[in-house]
Amino acid sequence: MQPFLADPNKTKELLARHDFLIKKGYGQNFLIDPSVPAGIAAAAGLGPEDTVLEIGPGIGTLTQVLAAAAGRVIAVEIDRKLEPVLADSLRGFDNVTVVWGDILKQDIPRLLAEHGVTPPVKVVANLPYYITSPILMALLKQAELFSSLTVMVQAEVGERMAAAPGTKEYGYLSVSVQYYAQPRLVLSVPPHAFLPQPKVSSAVVRLETGGGPAVQCRDADHLFAVAKAAFLQRRKTLANALAGYAPLGVSRDQAEAALTQTGLDPRIRGERLSLAQFAALSDILWAMTHQDDKEQKETSS
Ligand code: SAM
Repeated sequence: MQPFLADPNKTKELLARHDFLIKKGYGQNFLIDPSVPAGIAAAAGLGPEDTVLEIGPGIGTLTQVLAAAAGRVIAVEIDRKLEPVLADSLRGFDNVTVVWGDILKQDIPRLLAEHGVTPPVKVVANLPYYITSPILMALLKQAELFSSLTVMVQAEVGERMAAAPGTKEYGYLSVSVQYYAQPRLVLSVPPHAFLPQPKVSSAVVRLETGGGPAVQCRDADHLFAVAKAAFLQRRKTLANALAGYAPLGVSRDQAEAALTQTGLDPRIRGERLSLAQFAALSDILWAMTHQDDKEQKETSS
């Protein structure tokens, strides 16, 4: 077993030994402060009974710590040039399986089954920042596979995920993430904890996924479309924003009527609505627009 890597000199030595060139395009910022992988593993609450799905093991810095704390680690990495580096850094860590490929293209239930793993598993990752939201949303849409997700993201993204209604950080990401999970900021991480240093500060967020969606609604995609309309034009009143968002197919009068039925002031702005209010509004708008569809079908038949 190799010594733990999270150290600037050991990281540089390993990279040099394999002539590995860091790829910014893949969001490669490797951890070099040992307190951070330890903090992430602690926040994930890992024990020998846990299987971890890691996204982007990189040169194996966080993977080593996860492997020491959990029963098993399945790590999905896109950059095949890291193969000799990981073979070196993970030598002796027999409970790690590296899967080569793009996490966004994986059939995760199949991947887990192929490796004899029964869900739920814990996701732990220092995410590549260029695709944080697509990765999180792809995973959250199958939240039943995961008991929690503990991820490093840009600090600003972490704040938006956990934001409450009425704050300037509250937006589409807050509503869509909080529909599937309860996010909590657990650690602030400065740029100098990485090699190379990113331009932004980072944060570790733990997302609790047990228990299904936070609110009941007829159609989650419709709820997300309502939230998208609200935050695309957040300076407008919600009635105007809803009517101005063509995919919803609602008139201004319908939007105002739906807001009144939801018990909201028709002049309210979207940024003030809680997730439960978005869900209630979405159901009312859904019923209105689908009623119109039904009436049109009845007259044409
Ligand atoms: N886990 C390492 C650490 O903490 O030092 C590296 C984290 S680095 C921020 C992100 C990693 O994700 C890189 O190794 C990068 O190659 C990998 N990556 C980027 N896009 C990916 C994708 N679509 N699927 C899987 N891995 C990806």
